[in-house]
Amino acid sequence: MTKLLIGSHVGMKARKFLLGSVEEALSYNATTFMFYTGAPQNTRRKPVSELRVDEAKALMKEYGIDLNNIVVHAPYIINLGNTVKKETYELAVSFLKEEIRRVEEIGATRLVLHPGAHVKAGEEAGLNAIIDGLNEVLTPDTRVTIALETMAGKGTELGTSFDQLAYIIDHVNLSDQLGLCLDTCHLNDAGYDVTQFDDILDEVDQKIGLDRVKVIHVNDSKNPRGAHKDRHENIGYGTIGFDTLNKIVHNPRLENVPKILETPYINDQPPYKEEIEMFENNTFNDHLKQDLS
Ligand code: FE
Ligand code: FE
Ligand code: ZN
Repeated sequence: MTKLLIGSHVGMKARKFLLGSVEEALSYNATTFMFYTGAPQNTRRKPVSELRVDEAKALMKEYGIDLNNIVVHAPYIINLGNTVKKETYELAVSFLKEEIRRVEEIGATRLVLHPGAHVKAGEEAGLNAIIDGLNEVLTPDTRVTIALETMAGKGTELGTSFDQLAYIIDHVNLSDQLGLCLDTCHLNDAGYDVTQFDDILDEVDQKIGLDRVKVIHVNDSKNPRGAHKDRHENIGYGTIGFDTLNKIVHNPRLENVPKILETPYINDQPPYKEEIEMFENNTFNDHLKQDLS
C-alpha cells in the first residue's frame, strides 16, 4: 500500500516562511501541502530568496515530500475575466506572470488559479478575457502547470462547468501548461453529483483529459447541491458526507493527484491532522468538533 497523497493548505509567515509551512504540514502527518506565496487577498510578495526555501526543501526531502506534489494557490483577488475594469485585468496578468516566476524559482510545478469572474459582462466575454490573459502569461519556457479550479458559481464566477473549462483550455495556445483543480465543495455547489465521482471523472476525461487533473480540493459543503454558495464544511459534517469524500480520496484513478483539505478551523484550531487520519483509517470521526471545542 502506498501512502495517501494528502495534506492541507498551510500558512507561510514570518520568520520561518516555507520552512514553517513544511513543519506545519508534517505536524498533520501530511504527505503534501498547499500554500500562498503571500497573503491571498493582496499582491504584496517577499522575494523568494527570503522564504527559506533551501531549508524547507531539506526538511521535505528528509520526510519524503516531493516538490512536484506541493501546490501553490494564486491569490484569489486576481481576475483575468474582468473586461469591465481594464486595470483589474492588467493587474491580474502582471501579477500572474510574477507568480509563475516565483513558483518556478521555488521549484514547485502546480499552481492553482481561480479562472475568473465576468463581473456582469457575460460568460463569453469573461471566458475570452481569461483565454487572452493565459495567452499573455504562458511562454514556451513556462514550467509550472496552471490548474484551473472548478468554481461554485458564486456571483459571476466562471469555471463552473467542464464545458467552460474545456473552452478555455481548447483556446489557449500553450495549453500543455494548463490543468485542472477539482474542488469537491465547488463541484457540489455548482450542481454536480459528487456521489457519482466516476461519472464526473469520465466527463473530465472525455471533455478535457483525466491527465489534466493536477489537484483535488477535498472539502465538505455547508450547502445543498446546486446552491452556488461556496462555503466549505469540515469532513463528514456537511451535505456531501464522509463516505463520498472518502471514496474520492481513495479513488485509484486519482492516486497520484495531490489531495488538499481547505476545511474551516474549529475554534481557531486546524482540524487537518484529524481529518487526514479519518481518510487514513477510512473512518468518520464524529467527535472531531467536540474534541476541538
Ligand atoms: Fe481556490
Ligand atoms: Fe478550493
Ligand atoms: Zn471554495
